[in-house]
Amino acid sequence: MPHTPSTPSTSPQRRTAPDRGRTLLGPALRLIHTGRAPTRSALTGALDVTRATAGAVTAELEALGLISVDSRPAGGGRGRPSHRLALADPGPVVIAAQLHADGISTALAGLGGRLLAPVHLPLPADTSPAALLGAVAEAGARLARDSRRRVLGCALALPNPVTEPDGTALAALHFGWPFGTPVAELFAEAVARADLGPRARPGLPTAVANDANLAALAEHRHGAGRDARHLLLVTSGHRGVGGALVVDGRLHTGSSGLALEVGHLTVDPLGRRCPCGNRGCLNAETDTDALFAAAGRRPDPARPLLPQARALARDPAAADAVAHVVDRLGLGLAGLVNILNPDRIVLSGLHLDLLAAAPDRLAAVVAERCLWGRSGRVPIVPAQVVHAGLVGAAELAWEPCLDDPQAAVAP
Ligand SMILES: [Zn+2]
Repeated sequence: MPHTPSTPSTSPQRRTAPDRGRTLLGPALRLIHTGRAPTRSALTGALDVTRATAGAVTAELEALGLISVDSRPAGGGRGRPSHRLALADPGPVVIAAQLHADGISTALAGLGGRLLAPVHLPLPADTSPAALLGAVAEAGARLARDSRRRVLGCALALPNPVTEPDGTALAALHFGWPFGTPVAELFAEAVARADLGPRARPGLPTAVANDANLAALAEHRHGAGRDARHLLLVTSGHRGVGGALVVDGRLHTGSSGLALEVGHLTVDPLGRRCPCGNRGCLNAETDTDALFAAAGRRPDPARPLLPQARALARDPAAADAVAHVVDRLGLGLAGLVNILNPDRIVLSGLHLDLLAAAPDRLAAVVAERCLWGRSGRVPIVPAQVVHAGLVGAAELAWEPCLDDPQAAVAP
């Protein structure tokens, strides 16, 4: 995952005239984007600057068309106007896209984690890397052409590990792509070839990353992970299990982008076969297939798998199967808690429904295996962001603008 800076740290001394201005625009926009600075006085405090500096920064962001400043008094009361800060509406957008086993999802996205009418398309018949990434780029380009808003970036969430910094896909089992397919490069070429219409920034910046990493970023900035310092996300989507860790606002991606491949943690050495060749991986023991197998049922092959599995997890008649899978999920989470010491765990996909069906059992299994310190009491909470992979892709696409709004918006 490329550069994802945290929210700004405050310095012990107030910033003074020479370094204010442009260098504060990104940190200020990031605070407004994540809802941490709803007023100018909140922004002044969070940036640790004078009111005059905060005023200059918000005026500049407003001039760039990224935010609006409302200085009318709130609620007709007396006293100093509160200068409420809001993201510009309509402001510029980015293209967010997600590839998953069941299809392609795309949406335009404003700042603040706002998706505009996501579109879901089936996979094309040809799922070779060039054809599939071309179809994704074309789906995003259609949205850009139909919009009246400026388009500043484009990013894609993928269901497989993506290396850093070169952006190659490993183990893209859903689509049978060759090991090491250069997805970042191929996607950039596909977007460059697409007709994005007159309002897209020339040379539109593009990026790709793993979907679980992006979902964690979305939950940290806009959902159940807000304000967590060491956020662990574990998710089971259509097949398999993914994980991600956000530390102080940054994704922990390891030395080459492949950290937190939690799916291959062993939770039952004699358990079910995993596509990796081993037995009893979290992947094979706690995903949709595992739940159906534990319940002795078969999903309808004509319908998407995840919604059927989510319904099964909430079916009281499947309580024994749920308990069986929850015990294995608990073992996996306990192993991760003992290694990572998170202060919050967010579960999404099927795991969210397992948590809803057996919250006490899951917490008890984790606590039983995490006897030391406070680890056994780490809160385990359901994900909140709808379409978190897409919202996370939007975060990735917004990153250049959040780093340097002036350069990103300049014509
Ligand atoms: Zn495995």
